[in-house]
Amino acid sequence: MSEVKTHYRNCNICEAMCGLEIKYQDKQILSIKGDKEDPFSKGYNCPKATALQDFYEDGERLKTPIKRTENGWQAISWEDAFNEITEKFKAIQGEHGKHALAVYLGNPNAHNLGNSLFLKPFMKSLGTINRFSSASTDQMPHHVASNFMFGAGMLIPVPDIDRTDFMLIIGGNPVVSNGSMMTAPNVIGRLKSIQKRGGKVVVVDPRRTHTAKVADQHLFIRPEKDALLLLAMIHRVFQQKAVNLGNLKAKVHDVDTLESLVSAYSPRAVAEFIGISADEISALADEFCHAKSAVCYSRMGASTQTFGGLCQWLTNALNIITGNFDSEGGAMFPQPAFDLLRNHKRGHQSSFGQHHTRVRKLPFFNGEFPVATLAEEIQTPGEGQIKSLITVAGNPVLSSPSGHKLAEAFTGLEYMVSVDIYLNETTKYANIILPGTTGVENPQYDIFFNSFSVRNTVKYSPPLFEKTAEQRSDAEILQTISARMSDTPIPAHLQNIAPEVILDMELKKGPYGEQGLSLQKLLDNPHGIDIGPLMPCLDERIKTADGKIDLVPKLYSDDLPRLDAVMSKPARDNDYPFDLIGRRLVKSHNTWTQNSARLVKGKNPCTLEVHPEDAQQLGITNGALLKISSVSGSIEITAVVTDDIQKGVVSMPQGWGHNQKGTKMSVAATQPGVSINDLTDTNRVDTLTGNAALNGTPVSLHVIENNN
Ligand code: SF4
Repeated sequence: MSEVKTHYRNCNICEAMCGLEIKYQDKQILSIKGDKEDPFSKGYNCPKATALQDFYEDGERLKTPIKRTENGWQAISWEDAFNEITEKFKAIQGEHGKHALAVYLGNPNAHNLGNSLFLKPFMKSLGTINRFSSASTDQMPHHVASNFMFGAGMLIPVPDIDRTDFMLIIGGNPVVSNGSMMTAPNVIGRLKSIQKRGGKVVVVDPRRTHTAKVADQHLFIRPEKDALLLLAMIHRVFQQKAVNLGNLKAKVHDVDTLESLVSAYSPRAVAEFIGISADEISALADEFCHAKSAVCYSRMGASTQTFGGLCQWLTNALNIITGNFDSEGGAMFPQPAFDLLRNHKRGHQSSFGQHHTRVRKLPFFNGEFPVATLAEEIQTPGEGQIKSLITVAGNPVLSSPSGHKLAEAFTGLEYMVSVDIYLNETTKYANIILPGTTGVENPQYDIFFNSFSVRNTVKYSPPLFEKTAEQRSDAEILQTISARMSDTPIPAHLQNIAPEVILDMELKKGPYGEQGLSLQKLLDNPHGIDIGPLMPCLDERIKTADGKIDLVPKLYSDDLPRLDAVMSKPARDNDYPFDLIGRRLVKSHNTWTQNSARLVKGKNPCTLEVHPEDAQQLGITNGALLKISSVSGSIEITAVVTDDIQKGVVSMPQGWGHNQKGTKMSVAATQPGVSINDLTDTNRVDTLTGNAALNGTPVSLHVIENNN
């Protein structure tokens, strides 16, 4: 045996970019812990980091391609797999047109350097417009707001959490998630620092989340009513004549238009609908305005709902009109070393709604269509019907609305390929599965999450273990399919270009290139390099044609009547009287960490939280087995009676429902849980952005068996 060695790398499981110290001997990982010398995470890591080892060592993960046959899954060589795939894809596109082939991209693509770089040429080589991804079950409202207000969908303002005096968190649980669209390892430590320096943290959420328990104040709000709260807060700011553009004077269009738009949404007018009193709304707005610095951060509950677009627009608007934008302690733009907007010229916003889905006419944006429409685009006959699909690192059967119906749609495809290391609930429908490599076998550089980071840092991690000769990385798989599918031959030297070559070039051409930043410099600094806190940079970064913020893009003012309509509707649906919301767990991340034994061991966390008064009314005891139903379907789940959840609201975790027939995920089988997306409904979307409304699903509850 060789000596014990130490490897430093960023964890690529979630957005937080925690630096890890990994002790290993030969090909065996001995320990994983936080890297104290990482300038950003400073030794912090969450329990999920150990899953990097579990995925690497997992006996159930695939390492070479398999093909579905009449006699079950059979091993197939890479060459035969690529030959069959390109032949089938070309034949289907030849018969039905280029767009008959669709692509679904899962969230792990954003955590993989090679995939982040090669997906664009991969899409180009396929020639199809039909791209779908997990972004439209998650953060699309953020990108749309940034596109229209700041000129680029990837120009995302993030909370300056390390310097703010007042942090308002709406619909987010960053203590558990460690931030999302806000890369911030050790959020709990950062929130406690706000409190230690005399600041305040307020959480608005239908559930008393872990973050709410850490906060100074928690306000329960009815699901999907966050936009009304934000409108009322903005109303109060104008009414109190507290508008303060700070550094942004003469850089913001339409402040008067915003004042007139919010005039109807006084705290008194919305209080009844949102479940927060007018006095509390006014006090919250006043405190926000009077804080030395403040920032509003709204996330999953405010993004994945029917008014997600309005929520993200109004969150930005509140920060802007209170002088808390592009300034210390407010919402600020990161300046990443690999600048995704390096070649983005002013006035070149992404075309929004340049195309629409065939069936429901939902908008195309950022190069993709809403995934809530994928099933109907496969199942509805006619010109442009999707006949074939390739999924890359995604499990939409568990992560997309009405996932069980998407599974049914997959059975009607002429041909399907999945790039994935598991035979799971989605890939079991594929004809061929092509497995890539796991985190520790890949190079790591967070192109996307440095763009959402609360501090400017930079770090590259080489692979810890070289893949074996029989394996292919995800990036190599994409490159090989691209080379074979492309109408114009790709020069040989570009076909297998290493991600590091592109990374090095981008670092040298990026904002710190002149200061000597390069791949070699990162290799010389394995813990990472601190560039410093976020700096005001609106003038450099903004991409609108005139360099000013558009405070009231027309599509948002046009969407307000849709919100007004909810105020005239009855609060409850008699058939489905409860609102179902999701729940984030420390030990799971989306659908893919449930195959780590260390993360799924213990009590089954996939339970339904029910308020005590609702439980009493329906005769539900703690631990009862319930049937929960929506227009989309029914599942059975165990009840947990708790006043952490608002009356009339129930909550369960997302990302569960493993161990379905035909899958092979042995560890997940020990704790399969049930899928929230057998209840969510493809018809519930934010029609402005096309994002799925995974929160606020109307459901009914029935006791199957009480736990007496
Ligand atoms: S918070 Fe995220 S990045 Fe950090 S260790 Fe946990 S999973 Fe990894």
